[in-house]
Amino acid sequence: MPPRVLLHTIVFLFLIGALLARPVVTLLARSGAAYGALSRRNRASVTIVSRRAIVIRQRRRATPVGTLLPTPKAVDQAPTVTTTILPPLPSEPTPPTSTSTPSRSAFRDPVPILTYHYIRPHPGSDDPLGQRLSVDPATFQAQMDWLAQHGFTPITLSELAALRAGLIPAPPHPIVLTFDDGYRDFYQNAFPILRAHGFHATVFVITGFVGQERYLTWDMIRELDRSGLVEIGAHTVHHLDLTTLAHPESEIRDCKDALERALGHPVTAFAYPAGKFDARVETAVREAGFRQAVTTQPRWATSGDDPLALPRLRVTGDLTLAQFAALLTE
Ligand SMILES: [Zn+2]
Repeated sequence: MPPRVLLHTIVFLFLIGALLARPVVTLLARSGAAYGALSRRNRASVTIVSRRAIVIRQRRRATPVGTLLPTPKAVDQAPTVTTTILPPLPSEPTPPTSTSTPSRSAFRDPVPILTYHYIRPHPGSDDPLGQRLSVDPATFQAQMDWLAQHGFTPITLSELAALRAGLIPAPPHPIVLTFDDGYRDFYQNAFPILRAHGFHATVFVITGFVGQERYLTWDMIRELDRSGLVEIGAHTVHHLDLTTLAHPESEIRDCKDALERALGHPVTAFAYPAGKFDARVETAVREAGFRQAVTTQPRWATSGDDPLALPRLRVTGDLTLAQFAALLTE
């Protein structure tokens, strides 16, 4: 082949090759671009997925902070609720949580336990005993105001036991107010004053007398119990001197059973009628399931006292406010 023809052939083949190569290069370029785009999209979606995962993980990690919420289920179902509930008002005290371990040591200071009977206007001088057992509502109001002004925190007998056991934190100056015999004037005269102060109290009910004239009705007893302010305690069925009975068990147990049937929860506080008790009676009270019992021994209750023989200070009707204050000054 002459050199000229060979040159033309080479040029021709080069041109043909160039023409054919262009679509291939374009195709390759497009494929590459498409791959690049695809991989970018994949990377982006991976990023989005992982960001979402992080967000989810962060939310999951954040939810345990919501220990104030009622149930973990509620946290999962409505996480936005956490934002509305979690930030506590600055003025509110931090509520105790189950996970917190505050310094709750058993409370060892002496605590006064007061005994009241009637909260009513004084009866006539022909009823000296009734007069001694009756605190005038205005006097009672002044005594409760005095307690509030002097920083006392009235608690129930069960709360005192929990305090002694270190189960609840100690409030300032705890005091226990008890009301014997379950008189109706507690509901009419004392309870409104206690409720206005937010004070707690323990009322000892004689179940055989419930509903009689001057005594609480079952409806009143249930209402007091539901208030969350009043603990209902037992004071036997007929208010007899238990030390004189051959079998005091039924007076103790039947009273507890009747109260628990009416209230639907355990009753653990007991008051010996007229403060009369001995080792046999105390054993019967313990075996019936009572955890605290009060007597009439006149002194402050200490942490070393037998919980089934707690002393009490009687508030008599003739007590002046100064004498009441002196009772509560060690
Ligand atoms: Zn009594």
